[in-house]
Amino acid sequence: MKCDYCEIIEQPNHTEILYEDTDLFIIVKDMVITPGQITIVPKAHHPIVEMLPHPIMEKCALLANKVSMALFDIMGGGTNILIQNGLAGGQKVPHVAIEIIPRKENDNLPLQWPPKQLGEADLESTYSLYQEELAREKKQPVDKIAPATSTTASAEEKPSAKKEKVKPDSYLLKSVNRLP
Ligand SMILES: [Zn+2]
Repeated sequence: MKCDYCEIIEQPNHTEILYEDTDLFIIVKDMVITPGQITIVPKAHHPIVEMLPHPIMEKCALLANKVSMALFDIMGGGTNILIQNGLAGGQKVPHVAIEIIPRKENDNLPLQWPPKQLGEADLESTYSLYQEELAREKKQPVDKIAPATSTTASAEEKPSAKKEKVKPDSYLLKSVNRLP
């Protein structure tokens, strides 16, 4: 069974398409948190961000910035650029999507959270955790753990194909465990 976004991409009858190129769609969905919300969807089915080929991620980021600037111009206020990544990140559809959400002051959208003051120990352990992770990343060049750059192969092939090539503790495998 196809995921919701793959269905939209194949049969965009009920979705407004603002922009389309070989890699991406920009769409207006009928289920949004607020009017004006726009969604960037890579055409190839990649469940989570870590599986997105880097050139597509770069394109998504540039486009998200452009769309955000356009929303600033059209609607004023601010924006949230949101990726719900993995189950714990609130992702419902197993296909990467970037939401650009227009914001107004006091709009009461449930996208605010008060920052928590970290204690010294939490601060230190968080720093150490990422420092170790980044050091490991440097030893293993990003290109080697990134998925293939092809945007046409199906996502079902990728995790299994990669499993044979990457070490068991690799970031990619950890990512696979987070799939929605
Ligand atoms: Zn999909």
